[in-house]
Amino acid sequence: LRSEEGKEPPKTPGGDTIFGKIIRKEIKADVVYEDDLCLAFRDVSPQAPTHILMIPKNPVDRLANLTPQHKDIMGHLMVKASEVAKKENLDGGYRLVINDGKDGCQSVYHLHIHIIGGRKLSWPPG
Ligand code: ADP
Repeated sequence: LRSEEGKEPPKTPGGDTIFGKIIRKEIKADVVYEDDLCLAFRDVSPQAPTHILMIPKNPVDRLANLTPQHKDIMGHLMVKASEVAKKENLDGGYRLVINDGKDGCQSVYHLHIHIIGGRKLSWPPG
């Protein structure tokens, strides 16, 4: 996928995505961390030497639809993303990114945190 291209959100939110298939092991992914609440796997189209996606197993479609009930899972994802980055030896720094909606270049409507590192990143992102 070209990361510059976002997609319109699905007409019926909350439907299954390719990430649901990865969680259920219906399609293969290079998993680097898993627990009851989340899964982290390598992006198929890496934008840096390290590019991992951290997702909640209970799908939330997008950042825009978070509610206070998501506080715990979002905290969990951030803490585990930090641990994954440490394990990947991203000691020089890295970036966590959540794309929201078409203008934010979101293409898969199952919320995910990109963990991107292993090279000097530019700022601001495009
Ligand atoms: P974008 O595609 O614009 O980066 P997102 O933020 O929604 O939008 O990111 C979806 C990410 O999921 C992309 O980086 C894409 O390469 C990745 N991806 C899509 N399908 C798979 C897959 N089967 N396994 C691993 N990563 C995937």
